[in-house]
Amino acid sequence: MTGASDNVQAWLDEINHAARTRLGQGQVADYIPALAERDANRFGIAVCTNDGRVFAAGDARMPFSVQSISKIFLLTLALQVYGNRLWERVGMNPSGMPFNSLTQLEAEKGIPRNPFINAGALVVADHFVSAYATPAQHIQDVARSLSGNAGILIDQRVLASEWKHRSRNAATAYLMKSFGNIANEVDDVLRAYFACCALEMSCVDLARALNYLAAGGYAHCLQQQLIAPDLARRMNSLLFTSGMYDAAGEFAYRVGLPAKSGVGGGIVAVVPGRFSVCAWSPALDRNGNSIAAQYALERLSDYLPSSAVVTG
Ligand code: GLU
Repeated sequence: MTGASDNVQAWLDEINHAARTRLGQGQVADYIPALAERDANRFGIAVCTNDGRVFAAGDARMPFSVQSISKIFLLTLALQVYGNRLWERVGMNPSGMPFNSLTQLEAEKGIPRNPFINAGALVVADHFVSAYATPAQHIQDVARSLSGNAGILIDQRVLASEWKHRSRNAATAYLMKSFGNIANEVDDVLRAYFACCALEMSCVDLARALNYLAAGGYAHCLQQQLIAPDLARRMNSLLFTSGMYDAAGEFAYRVGLPAKSGVGGGIVAVVPGRFSVCAWSPALDRNGNSIAAQYALERLSDYLPSSAVVTG
């Protein structure tokens, strides 16, 4: 960080105040009933510095549905096990399409554009199912150990709702299976993927758990190197180009940081070498990104020295 720690708390307090003026815009995700009933008037933000200090404001300790943010955990774990072989089955380029689109898959023979769209995450989840006997339990354990919060749970209502409304993800997985790009039973892959999406974590949990991306792969709560520094750098590059759905370019222009969004309203962003941050508010714009959380991260990047942001 650039200044004393009370500066960081002052930033977050100011951002919390300012971001709340954006509440009331946008729509809470309604593709499953269990998310549609979430309170749109919540906003929280938390920073975890690379020396392990946490700063928080607003509803930063309230758990929410992490949804697509869990694709970072999935990718990290699959790369740990499979290394570069993973890239034979999923690409590294922005898709330029909505996160749940099927149209490119047919033309591109079942190889998804990147691991952060649903098709790509399903291929990564397929690896995950091959590697672990109890994938859902494993992802919950990983979320707990990386965040240092043993109380993290998979929300069973969200999980059941995802399963009930699985048609599109199932169609995506079956299409890829028809091209030979899903090895396991589709139902097993979907269950593992939905379990990841249904994790309930707070801004503080996520800022802590994903700090390894800011800290060159070192995970504080584990007190060990989780991934190699060059892999952390590469994951940040993927987040920068593909982490914000169809609006990655716009977000890069406005904020200039690697980030991953989820339809639960959370956005995790990384300031490499300095800190991780998570902002959350449930109401989304038309691309599926939280309006207040994006605004908060834009304000946060205004506080950073220009060397920390790509747009600087
Ligand atoms: N569970 C959601 C789905 O697969 C995740 C969407 C997201 O956060 O991008 O449809």
